[in-house]
Amino acid sequence: MLYFAAILTAAAVLMAAVELRSSSNKTPFAATTTTSIKSVQVAASQTKIHTVNQLLPEQDNPSNSLVRLLATPPPPPTPDCAVAACVALTFDDGPNADSTHIILDALKKERVKATFFVIGLKVAANKDSMQRMQKDGHEIGNHTWAHPNLTKLTQAQIEQQISQTQTAVTGLGLQPPKLFRPPYEAFTKSMLTYIHMPVILWNIDPKDWKEKDPKNIVAIVETQARSGGLIVMHDKAVTAAAIAQIISDLKPKFKFVTVTELLNLPPDAQGIFIGR
Ligand SMILES: [Zn+2]
Repeated sequence: MLYFAAILTAAAVLMAAVELRSSSNKTPFAATTTTSIKSVQVAASQTKIHTVNQLLPEQDNPSNSLVRLLATPPPPPTPDCAVAACVALTFDDGPNADSTHIILDALKKERVKATFFVIGLKVAANKDSMQRMQKDGHEIGNHTWAHPNLTKLTQAQIEQQISQTQTAVTGLGLQPPKLFRPPYEAFTKSMLTYIHMPVILWNIDPKDWKEKDPKNIVAIVETQARSGGLIVMHDKAVTAAAIAQIISDLKPKFKFVTVTELLNLPPDAQGIFIGR
C-alpha cells in the first residue's frame, strides 16, 4: 500500500512538471529545439568533410603536396582607390638596358604594380623587359615612337608616332597599350579628336630627369606623395637606384596601383587625366 502511494505521488510530481514546462514559457522550449537541429546539421557536415578526407589517399591529399611549396602566391587584391590611399608610379622614356630591369626587380620584390610609358623605337631592342612588364602585371602605355614635340607635327605624323609604337608592342605578342602620354606635356585639345586613348599627365613631378643623386629623388617623392597621386618618373639609372627606397618609404601609407586602377578608367575612356 505504501509502495503504491509512493508511485502515485511520483506520477503526480512528474505530471505537474510537464504541465509547468508546456504552459509557462514556450520560447525557451522552441529555442532549445532550434539549437538541437543546428547541432545536428553541423555534426552532419563535419562528418561529411571527415569522410571526404578519408577517401583521399595520403599522397594525393593537396595539403601534403610538395608542389604547393612552389605555387605562386596570389596577387594582392586591387584596392578601391575611391576609398583606399593609392598612388600610381609611372616610368617614362624606356625601356632601357641599364635601368628597366632594375626597376622591374624592385617592383617585383615588393609585389608593386606600376605603369611604363614606352618609346616605340626602343621596344624591340628590349624585348625581355617589355615581356616582363606585362607578365609582372604592370601597365604599358604609349609615349610615341621617337619622343617628338607633338605640337610641331601634323596630324598624320602624330598618328604615325602612336600607331608605330602600338605595332612595336603588339609585335612582341603583348597587349596593345591603352594609355597615351605626350612627350614634354606638349598637347593640344584638338588632338583629342583623333587620339582615341586616354591622355595621361600627372599631378606629382619629382623632376627626376634633372637629378643626379638618387637620395634627392627619394626625398622629393616622399615629400610630395599623397593619396590619388599620379607620379611621373623616368626609366633611367638614377631613378632605378632610388626606386627600392621610394617603395619602402611609401608602402606603409599607400597602395601602389596602375594608372587604369588609380583612375578607375573604363575601357572606352577618353580625355586628359592628371590623377585623382
Ligand atoms: Zn618622355
